[in-house]
Amino acid sequence: MMAVAEFDLIERIRARSTVRDDVLLGIGDDAALLRVPAGRDLAVSADTLNVGVHFAESASAADVGWKSLAVNLSDLAAMAAQPAWCTLALSMPSADERWLEDFIDGFLTLAKMHDIALVGGDTTCGPLSISVTVIGWVEPGKALRRDRARIGDDVWATGTLGDAAAALRLLNGGDEVPEALAQRLQRPSPRIGAGRKLLSLAHACIDLSDGLLADLGHICERSGVGAEIDLPALPASAALCAAFDEPGRWELQAGGGDDYELCFTAAAAVRDEIIHALREIDVPGARIGRITSGSGVTALDWKGNAWPMSRRGYQHFS
Ligand code: ADP
Ligand code: MG
Repeated sequence: MMAVAEFDLIERIRARSTVRDDVLLGIGDDAALLRVPAGRDLAVSADTLNVGVHFAESASAADVGWKSLAVNLSDLAAMAAQPAWCTLALSMPSADERWLEDFIDGFLTLAKMHDIALVGGDTTCGPLSISVTVIGWVEPGKALRRDRARIGDDVWATGTLGDAAAALRLLNGGDEVPEALAQRLQRPSPRIGAGRKLLSLAHACIDLSDGLLADLGHICERSGVGAEIDLPALPASAALCAAFDEPGRWELQAGGGDDYELCFTAAAAVRDEIIHALREIDVPGARIGRITSGSGVTALDWKGNAWPMSRRGYQHFS
């Protein structure tokens, strides 16, 4: 469909995409041919970004390109998988070359940083929507799943929490958004290296897209356990602290989405190993709570009393 323009656009994308030795055949045929490393399990994940839902019409095309790949890589990171390839299904209202160039800029900048090859996709005319599939591999039986948390585990988070939600709150309120916070909303860093380091250390893992309470809630549900979160222990960036005081920022850190950090559980016996492993790749890690018997996530204040939280994460169709 879209005859000439479609092939033109695809050719622009092809000309700029990364090459890898394990891509036997990339963009241009009816399917890509990929060589999976011997003895590895494939990890596959897809995510769609729709205009007006996941990003504003006014968002920079380069940021949208970056983020559409970042949120997908984050899912593979949460499985401790090594991403290698991706596909891009693009629906656009018109063959807007300027927009596409900028979009591809953002997308491929992140792809190159992690040596991900764009190996195929689809280009159609319709409402602006971006659907990315990422494919990677993981050592057999080693993937980090949501259903493996154990009672007594520590709960950890990488990086800092609440920055993206803070940026969004300021933006929606018409306030100036500090660059450090805006960056976290527009260009999240998928924690691929951290996921790989946690391969044999963590029990359960999830990436934080909908908010800590909601996402840790998924681990609890799937693992048949409960969790307690110490709100004052949630890692906060200097920019967040400057813009929001405690306890006000707790809602952003525990309830806000779009962090794309990893939340994982691990035995207390490997605390030092985790700190060491994350330090090696310069990723901060904070112990933020514990897995308990029972169900659901309870947030605790300075005194260890339950703290009522008003936001429980983003949900489509509600
Ligand atoms: P087909 O009609 O066989 O599905 P297409 O004309 O849709 O093929 O696509 C031609 C080639 O370009 C295919 O290899 C496809 O994977 C690739 N492709 C199409 N759109 C994109 C895109 N947005 N990004 C990357 N590759 C794409
Ligand atoms: Mg097609």
